[in-house]
Amino acid sequence: KVKNSGRKGILFFDPQAESSLLSIHHQLDEVSRALERDEFELYYQPQINLLSGDVIGVEALIRWHHPERGLLAPESFWQALHSEKFSRVLGKWVIEQALDRIEAWRVEGLRLTVGVNISVHHLLHPDFCADLRTALQSHPHIPPACLDLEILETAAIDDMNRAVDTLRECKALGLTIALDDFGTGYSSLTHLKRLPADRLKIDKSFVINMLTDPDDQAIVVAVTSLAQAFQRKVIAEGVESAEHIRRLVDIGCLLGQGYGIARPMPAGEILAWIEQRRHNPPI
Ligand code: C2E
Ligand code: MG
Ligand code: MG
Ligand code: MG
Repeated sequence: KVKNSGRKGILFFDPQAESSLLSIHHQLDEVSRALERDEFELYYQPQINLLSGDVIGVEALIRWHHPERGLLAPESFWQALHSEKFSRVLGKWVIEQALDRIEAWRVEGLRLTVGVNISVHHLLHPDFCADLRTALQSHPHIPPACLDLEILETAAIDDMNRAVDTLRECKALGLTIALDDFGTGYSSLTHLKRLPADRLKIDKSFVINMLTDPDDQAIVVAVTSLAQAFQRKVIAEGVESAEHIRRLVDIGCLLGQGYGIARPMPAGEILAWIEQRRHNPPI
């Protein structure tokens, strides 16, 4: 049973995309082996203050070095990532990797907040908080606030009460919470009111199109003022150009990430990217 996979799962029936996607059976068969063989890797995409250009953190995005198909983005194994069987195993791996990476960066003198994407099944698993606590305990030098849990806004619908309780517990552990793809789910306002989120991530579809579509721009404006009214931070994804940056700053959305700033990259490239930016000021 794979719930909540409809939105991306539909890609499975797109004949053009089919060749890059693995069948669900294939995905499930291969994931354990891929974990054993260490075929997964986290890429990191910088998040910046659009006004000052300062790097405020990075988002961890999973990649699969598939032995036959090459480097796969999550869309190709979406169902496994969100399956009951693997969401927790993969999620624990992601959190562990992210914490190791935060620690390694701190040794190099970089203090970065890392956003990790959490799948619904994992969030709603009874051991989610206990797992998280164990992971944090094995990284005692990391301030928990360095870990930002990105929750799909739609994720909570399944079991809102449990989601709220779990996220409150995470907040009590010191973590921060972001509502990802904000605006794409239904019932955004109810979620916003109930979920203890520190920030809203405006979905990239609105941001990318805001320069040409007044409705998309209106949504970006509305989400930004909503965040301000609720005293949450707001960050735009899909910042693809200098014009996006200008428009977002005008609107008052001062945080962003996107291809116009940097593409997701292997962990080992982040330090050099930050240093190179110091010498060549941002776009
Ligand atoms: P997301 O969390 O909304 O992440 C943003 C996605 O947009 C990433 O795709 C990123 O590469 C892409 N992106 C960033 N900037 C731009 C831009 O300027 N233009 C465009 N067109 N795209 C941009 P990616 O890495 O393929 O990840 C897709 C989704 O997969 C993520 O969306 C997230 O929901 C999920 N995901 C990624 N990593 C993980 C993970 O470790 N665990 C779980 N459960 N889900 C993950
Ligand atoms: Mg995300
Ligand atoms: Mg998103
Ligand atoms: Mg997304």
